[in-house]
Amino acid sequence: MNLTDLNRYGEIGANCTFVQLGAFNILIDSGLHPKMMGYDALPDFEAIENIELDLIVLTHCHLDHLGSLPVVTAYNPRTPVVTTAPNVTLVPRMLRNSINVMKRQREEHGVSEYPLFLHRDVAQLNNQLVIQRFERGEIYNKGNDQIEVILHRAGHVAGAATIELIYKHRRIVFSGDVLFDDQRTLPGASLPKGPVDTLILETTRGAKGRELGQNRATEVDRLVSQISTVLDRGGSCLIPVFALGRMQELFKIIYESRNRCRIPKAPVYAAGLGMAICGHFDKIRQQTQLIDFDIKMLEKMDVRSVDLNTRPGRDLTRKGIYIVSSGMMIEHTPSYKLAASLLPHTKNGICFVGYCDPDTPGGQLLSNRNEENFFFDALDYAAPIQASIDQFDLSGHADRDQLLEYATQTEARSIVLTHGDQDARKWFSQELTARLPQAKILDPDPLITYHL
Ligand SMILES: [Zn+2]
Ligand SMILES: [Zn+2]
Repeated sequence: MNLTDLNRYGEIGANCTFVQLGAFNILIDSGLHPKMMGYDALPDFEAIENIELDLIVLTHCHLDHLGSLPVVTAYNPRTPVVTTAPNVTLVPRMLRNSINVMKRQREEHGVSEYPLFLHRDVAQLNNQLVIQRFERGEIYNKGNDQIEVILHRAGHVAGAATIELIYKHRRIVFSGDVLFDDQRTLPGASLPKGPVDTLILETTRGAKGRELGQNRATEVDRLVSQISTVLDRGGSCLIPVFALGRMQELFKIIYESRNRCRIPKAPVYAAGLGMAICGHFDKIRQQTQLIDFDIKMLEKMDVRSVDLNTRPGRDLTRKGIYIVSSGMMIEHTPSYKLAASLLPHTKNGICFVGYCDPDTPGGQLLSNRNEENFFFDALDYAAPIQASIDQFDLSGHADRDQLLEYATQTEARSIVLTHGDQDARKWFSQELTARLPQAKILDPDPLITYHL
């Protein structure tokens, strides 16, 4: 097997892996780098420029895996894009939103190459999508060559799959993004057991282990208590979330906690793409039973839309729980705007529920929360830091010890590290070398082809 990582900066980046197995040219995911703009955000497609892909497999619909797929399918209009049923529902919604965001950024930041694709390209990709059920292998033929594709439940987010390829009795597993713990909206991962030949492993959380005694349940508990504290003292609580997955998870947590009287019945406000995705989640539940999300819950909770007509520094007049994107409080997003209103007032609270990249406003606010002021540069506003700022570990990714455990039992001959910063990959590299001394542990340089 030849493997080339097209994610040109390493890191979490724009996920895209090109593999050649016998006659087959296969691409796994094609994302956009969450922190880059314009052409820099794309994977480097040079290695596949003159190659006709036989198969594209999509793990899930977060944009670091999906965001540049229409660029690839524009050049490969006959290639099947294999993925799960929930993803087939979510792909067009996520991409249409991405086009709109790119158009806005073209205006705001002068990125002349935006949008990187058009609605026409999304429609074409849509026609190439092929639904495959979990745990049911499908055979693809090319000449006399044959490959089997199996999708396994990866937890993480609705529709997420771990991909297994079987070629001449060799098993190759691409973990994709994985969460073993059950969430409120979907069950945890159920990955293929060893022995496998090659494992391509996500390493998102490799840099840091969980604190002793802390797990998902204790973190949900701590979050619920904090929301309750903020509301009881008469403040508003802002929870920045990712639109796909995390927002719906939060709705369920709040709904259940209210029913158990653990949170006072304050109004819940939400906005944006995440609300549209709630409708899709409900549809996915009805059609596939793969997730647990009933849209009626939003009516019962009386979820209202957020008024974003706010002024930095002026507290929100409508008190309540605000569940809005982006999760890392990126400039120009609802969470960024609302934080600029809430931060200077002691009664309010901001609860981060996932990972925040240190370079994002969310990451900066977390690391500078004991300073006097926080600078909202995009609004040119210096906010006195008065509201409480807390972080809760409800990550959509398995912690490093769980992944290490999984990787060890696969007894893989080769393990390729992906989807993680340098420190994270380094930890996995050391631990896996110690546990599987016979295995080849590879932290691939981008764009280099490895023979495995
Ligand atoms: Zn993801
Ligand atoms: Zn990812």
